[in-house]
Amino acid sequence: MNTSLMPKSISRPKPYLLQVEYADFTGIIMLSSLREECPCAVCKGEEIMGVRYSFGIQIMKPGMNELIALQPSGNYALQARWNDGHDSGIYTWEQLRAIVEKHALSPEQIQAINN
Ligand SMILES: [Zn+2]
Repeated sequence: MNTSLMPKSISRPKPYLLQVEYADFTGIIMLSSLREECPCAVCKGEEIMGVRYSFGIQIMKPGMNELIALQPSGNYALQARWNDGHDSGIYTWEQLRAIVEKHALSPEQIQAINN
């Protein structure tokens, strides 16, 4: 296991923001980005015989971007529980790091959101 992908800390500076701190980098993302990137089979589809099937239709549901809990799943991943009842998303450290790097907000964006 590549432990350098493990965050040093995870916090929520605002109810809709997630801050993930690594040894070499700290990123702040919108919780909606985390939900958008949910890696579970329902959200991302499942690969069967090399073909990707998507079973979920991405519709806005009340509470879908409200995070209730982020719980460790073993020592390799985090499980997210959302306010619409969705809890099958398990983010490996590697996936989380990729999401944080892809969606990290700039200081200007964070300021604009906070205003
Ligand atoms: Zn999902």
